[in-house]
Amino acid sequence: SAEVRELRRQLGVEATGSGVPKPCVSFAYFGFDDVMMQLIQRQGFAQPTPIQAQAVPTVMSGRDVIGIAETGSGKTAAFVWPMIKHILDQPDLKRGDGPIAVLLAPTRELCMQISQNTRRYAKHYNIRVATVYGGGSRYEQVKTLKDGCEVVVATPGRLIDLIKDKATNLRRVTYLVLDEADRMFDMGFSLQVNSIINHTRPDRQTLLFTATFKKKVEKLARQALRNPVRIVVGTVGK
Ligand code: ADP
Ligand code: MG
Repeated sequence: SAEVRELRRQLGVEATGSGVPKPCVSFAYFGFDDVMMQLIQRQGFAQPTPIQAQAVPTVMSGRDVIGIAETGSGKTAAFVWPMIKHILDQPDLKRGDGPIAVLLAPTRELCMQISQNTRRYAKHYNIRVATVYGGGSRYEQVKTLKDGCEVVVATPGRLIDLIKDKATNLRRVTYLVLDEADRMFDMGFSLQVNSIINHTRPDRQTLLFTATFKKKVEKLARQALRNPVRIVVGTVGK
């Protein structure tokens, strides 16, 4: 509608795909529970950033999303907030032996940042987060995986190694995030990322976030995402 188009224009957001939900300019419209609302408030966030305004309702509607927005635009929360709800919605939440959500990032530093951000919310819901990356103590990583977790934050190579060692499995993964997808390609993780995708469930929801959109990322998006909504903030990726 004209109203939605005007809203997107004001936010500097472009959304491509069929039946894309209306962006939410206030946290109140996200439909989050009181705990989540308090956690957001406590961080002093006044309103959703443009990528959050369009991506959160789209992800919560169950759609696959390609989110393209510059560094510092709040992409992490755009996939972490809906992830919490996705996990809580699983009927067999505490019964499986592998994670429900996998968040992939190209570097140890990014994994640690995403992990810290995720725990900020997860701990209030008894959602367990395992963080696995190259260079970290493999013994510790195997232990946290085997103790049980609903979320795994990982660099691709280390996660593949741990799957091969049967420290975890991705058979119940229904929420997969490829964060900084452009950098994952630049760093040569394409094959590992593809292999991880093949370990997850075919009926998963897949989200791809990136600061720049390149040919190789486009190719992966076509293979790994189903009827995605493409959200572009500002002038990146155009
Ligand atoms: P990106 O992944 O796009 O580079 P981040 O998710 O790392 O960005 O977020 C960048 C910064 O913005 C973080 O410090 C984060 O806490 C902050 N932030 C996230 N959402 C909001 C918001 N709605 N309002 C204000 N600051 C926010
Ligand atoms: Mg980021």
